[in-house]
Amino acid sequence: MSLYGAKSKTTPKLDDRTDLILYNNVVSPYSSTINSVLTILTQTNLEKKIDILKNIDILDVFHSSGFKNFWISNQSPIGVWDNQITQFARKSDRCEFVNMTSNSSYEATYTASYDEKIIAPFSEALQDSAKKKLIILHLIGNHSSYSKRYPTDFNIFEGDGSKKSNTIAEYKNSLVYTDFIVDSMINILIKSQRLNTNTATSLLYISDHGENVYDHGEKAGHDYSKVVPKANVEIPFFLWISPYFQSLDSSKTQQTILNKNKPFVTDDLFHALIDLNFIKTKFPEKGRSVFNPIFNDKRKRILCDGKDYDEKVD
Ligand SMILES: [Zn+2]
Repeated sequence: MSLYGAKSKTTPKLDDRTDLILYNNVVSPYSSTINSVLTILTQTNLEKKIDILKNIDILDVFHSSGFKNFWISNQSPIGVWDNQITQFARKSDRCEFVNMTSNSSYEATYTASYDEKIIAPFSEALQDSAKKKLIILHLIGNHSSYSKRYPTDFNIFEGDGSKKSNTIAEYKNSLVYTDFIVDSMINILIKSQRLNTNTATSLLYISDHGENVYDHGEKAGHDYSKVVPKANVEIPFFLWISPYFQSLDSSKTQQTILNKNKPFVTDDLFHALIDLNFIKTKFPEKGRSVFNPIFNDKRKRILCDGKDYDEKVD
């Protein structure tokens, strides 16, 4: 993303925004969708693994704190890479899968279901009368096949005909499309804020994992053998918070800005999300919340391959 300094202008709309808090040093614990999503949204982390039966998740905590949970997904609901997430998502009060282009996860990698399908159900969820809402939007984003992730209007970058060059161009085009989708979502939120000025709203964008597009070795994708390349886990992580949210707790807003360069692993997002949203429960360990003044930025970032991210050299 050019938002993170890439030379190619892949996120023109987000680049122009002045209302994002951009975290610069965030990695995912895993390099795959299922492991990452289920770790990001639950209490377990790579330092303290919790048995699945005792693992409290974000849907439980928000629901019992009076939130209505929405899960809107453009990932395929069925198949080896999706079944577990779908089962998890169904715990939400409202769950909507908009990608019905295939009969399996594998097939879905080769079919097109553009993320704009999420926009209408997202707008509907915003209009829902529930006072407190957690809306999880699971984009298909920039998962392969990259050429299937954007409509032809977004054919901005072109390869030289070689497989490598074409793949890189298609990946960049998929990012330009994601830029359009995420920017649109923030604008929809801002519009809804004008109608409901006294609601504290935030939007957090994260990737479940990174993607190695010829950054490491002559390949594209997010699989690996033994050692995870940095590109597989380095992810964008940015926050938008509404003016009312800022006025409600200006010290929290300041803290999110102060912590934006601190090293974070998203396996602790569970704690951070509870902490950010003014929820009072026994669950969040504040030292694990990147939005908290006592955030522990000395944690060693040992990832799923057992290696310390900060000592990786690739
Ligand atoms: Zn994924």
